[in-house]
Amino acid sequence: MRIDLHTHSDRSDGTDDPRALMQRASEAGLDVVALTDHDTSDGWDDARSAAHDLDLGFVAGIEISCRHAGAGVHLLAYLVDPGYQPLRHELGRILAGRSSRLPATLGRLRKIGIELDAADVRAVSGPAAAVGRPHVADALVAKGVVANRDEAFDRYLAHGRPAYVDRYAAELEDMVDMVERAGGVTVIAHPWGRQSRSALSADVLAGLTARGLTGVEVDHQDHDVAARQELREVADRLGLVATGASDFHGEGKLDCPLGCNLTAPDQLERLLVAAEQAATRSGRAPPRAVLP
Ligand code: AMP
Ligand code: ZN
Ligand code: FE
Ligand code: FE
Repeated sequence: MRIDLHTHSDRSDGTDDPRALMQRASEAGLDVVALTDHDTSDGWDDARSAAHDLDLGFVAGIEISCRHAGAGVHLLAYLVDPGYQPLRHELGRILAGRSSRLPATLGRLRKIGIELDAADVRAVSGPAAAVGRPHVADALVAKGVVANRDEAFDRYLAHGRPAYVDRYAAELEDMVDMVERAGGVTVIAHPWGRQSRSALSADVLAGLTARGLTGVEVDHQDHDVAARQELREVADRLGLVATGASDFHGEGKLDCPLGCNLTAPDQLERLLVAAEQAATRSGRAPPRAVLP
């Protein structure tokens, strides 16, 4: 079984619509895929129905923008009830924060001599639930300012670069609790990638586990071999599920295609058992995984 538990569609900052994404996943020889757009469940229905037609297993997820000790942390929430009002409220707040910083980002670009309009960015963001930095990056590519998304981040948009603007994110511990109340399970995305490593020591992960965290994403392109090995040991010790995934974003970022990292079947099994338990405890009716 080839299982990829972290992908993005054009409902956030991926470039494929949810149906096309499932088609691609099927062509890539995957058996189970999770759609985990940033802060939205907008793509679930289309993805689930396409997966059904393709005989592909489907797991509904959301990658939620959180913060811990000042660092950005991405929390994957699987099989969570998106209708749970406190969660809807929090996701709305995050999406609004992302979209509303666009004028400030464009202002900073203007200050360093790069003219980009909101309309240029909207032209590339399509049906996304919010306009984020990757869309600004795509607009810079379209204008010929940079060659690709990575260059846009490295030169202008990454934390510490001249056009970076902070935005609202949920408090990590609170979000672990909230997802649990919404009947879902949580896995920290790329915990030791980019900026979150120092904020997520083994001790911090132990504390989150005690609070109900279910897993960590171990096999991710942002983790080198040593980080993966060490994180897998931490996961084993804490009893956390260890997942792997491509974090596929489509055309904007082709370095790790669908299925470039995978989750082992026994780890998915554990995740789904935990999800069943969370669903029961919550008294809600969150979506269930569809297996092939
Ligand atoms: P935003 O939500 O607008 O702050 O954008 C964050 C998203 O941008 C992340 O989820 C990634 O998909 C992408 N991203 C962040 N940093 C980088 C980077 N250095 N290079 C390429 N993409 C990045
Ligand atoms: Zn993204
Ligand atoms: Fe992420
Ligand atoms: Fe992601």
